[in-house]
Amino acid sequence: GLKGKVALITGSTSGIGLATAHVLAEQGCHIVLHGLMTQDEGTALAAEFTTQYQINTYFSNADLRDPACIHEFMDAAVEQLGSIDILVNNAGIQHTQDVANFPIEKWNDIIAINLSSAFHTIQKVVPAMANKQWGRIINIASVHGLVGSANKVAYCAAKHGIVGLTKVVSIECAEQGITVNAICPGWVDTPLIGKQIDNIASDKNLSYNEAKYQLVTSKQPLPEMLAPRQIGEFVLFLCGGAAKGITGAALPMDGAWTAQ
Ligand code: NAD
Repeated sequence: GLKGKVALITGSTSGIGLATAHVLAEQGCHIVLHGLMTQDEGTALAAEFTTQYQINTYFSNADLRDPACIHEFMDAAVEQLGSIDILVNNAGIQHTQDVANFPIEKWNDIIAINLSSAFHTIQKVVPAMANKQWGRIINIASVHGLVGSANKVAYCAAKHGIVGLTKVVSIECAEQGITVNAICPGWVDTPLIGKQIDNIASDKNLSYNEAKYQLVTSKQPLPEMLAPRQIGEFVLFLCGGAAKGITGAALPMDGAWTAQ
């Protein structure tokens, strides 16, 4: 089992990351929580996890746009909980605009948070995982790591990039008991997509739920959003013994989006 393993999930204050933290905590993993909330809010969240699951926790609100900040965060986490056995690179942001008008700052932030941060965290965890001859690295990519969509130039570039990063690290680490995979979800019901739903609702004069349905069915044959916890359960599967042979894969969980 995973009891006593240390799992670090970036962006675990919300959405998919938070749900994944709960799924791994239920298994008895110690959890490094991370994301953009105040230190007080984060400390309270970590305390809830400690009480609910009888595990050790650590919280950081390190800004993933800053590599020095990431290194400091990872060092502090290891000092508090021990070396990282399971790394879930999940934090991510979105901005939608056509390429000609795409703000440079948004491009830089999306590449830094959705792609480069995973390079930095992976670099930090691989040596200790190799020493232990066991490790699990799971990158939350997206269906947009496999196909493109209009108005998502930075997001698609970052997500395709993380699929490439996943492949290379999986090859390098294959003899060290470390598996490295990317999960490629379709629509997941989280705050990340709220703005896209709001835009459709106001453009087409629809209710929030009507707009949500339109957004989902515009690309995804399965006419519903995934629940964040479903991604967490997939992460859990990839951490288990049955998934030992799955490495270097970009695994769609996309309601047939990329089957078309
Ligand atoms: P979310 O907005 O609910 O959570 C994002 C998390 O990232 C939060 O904890 C936030 O604090 C953190 N974060 C954002 N910017 C940060 C920064 N600069 N520094 C540190 N942390 C930062 O989003 P979500 O939908 O749960 O997304 C999680 C991952 O799943 C993302 O990588 C996203 O691209 C991916 N994904 C989401 C969907 C979807 O439909 N929601 C689909 C496919 C993939």
